Amino acid sequence: MDGQTITTAPVLILLGPPGAGKGTQARMLEDRFGFVQLSTGELLRAAVANGTAAGREAKAVMEAGGLVSDDIVIAILRDRLAEPDTARGVILDGFPRTTVQAQALDALLAETGQQIDAAISLDVDDAAMVTRISGRFTCGGCGEGYHDSFKQPAEAGVCDKCGGTEMKRRADDTAETVASRLDAYHAQTAPLIDYYEEKGALARIDAMGAIDDIAAGLGAIVTKATA
Ligand code: AMP
Repeated sequence: MDGQTITTAPVLILLGPPGAGKGTQARMLEDRFGFVQLSTGELLRAAVANGTAAGREAKAVMEAGGLVSDDIVIAILRDRLAEPDTARGVILDGFPRTTVQAQALDALLAETGQQIDAAISLDVDDAAMVTRISGRFTCGGCGEGYHDSFKQPAEAGVCDKCGGTEMKRRADDTAETVASRLDAYHAQTAPLIDYYEEKGALARIDAMGAIDDIAAGLGAIVTKATA
């Protein structure tokens, strides 16, 4: 690159099945380190809500708990990564979910001289995931996550973070869909743990404990990986 110094922003990946806490932890890392959380699930839900061509194609697959096609997801991610705020560093939450996506991400980052700093696997027991997922809801205003059993807002129905009163539950957070989403994770996404281990980029964390303890452990991993 003509002797230029390239300043590369941190790129972190959170791996783990649905319900492992990727979204919650990504938001906490965003607050703590100033990175941008990039969730392909959220980008796809926005595409569905806006009725875009990609959203229309993705809708039925998402409702059934399957994986949206690599082409659609990679295109959505590429567009989002091109936005200027990603220069602060990104935490990928829910991407990549297949080996094809992981390879596409490596190629995309290589275009700008970047690479992954760490892929962190949130290790959980599958059996607990259905309970975790079926009780969760978020603030429609700021996206803060809550749970019927584990994290209620201080005042029922009012967001602790922004004061919003419109709470939302995801259409695919039902017991039947969760089973399909867990199957998709084990068949197509879990092999990425080996993919990143072979690259020497894998870190693992026990994600069955308290949210704040997991956040502290993750913070230490991120600090080390981006030092
Ligand atoms: P999430 O919010 O990450 O749980 O994603 C919700 C749903 O969006 C998933 O069950 C998939 O149908 C779809 N989705 C999100 N990210 C991806 C991805 N990287 N590849 C394929 N499908 C995805």
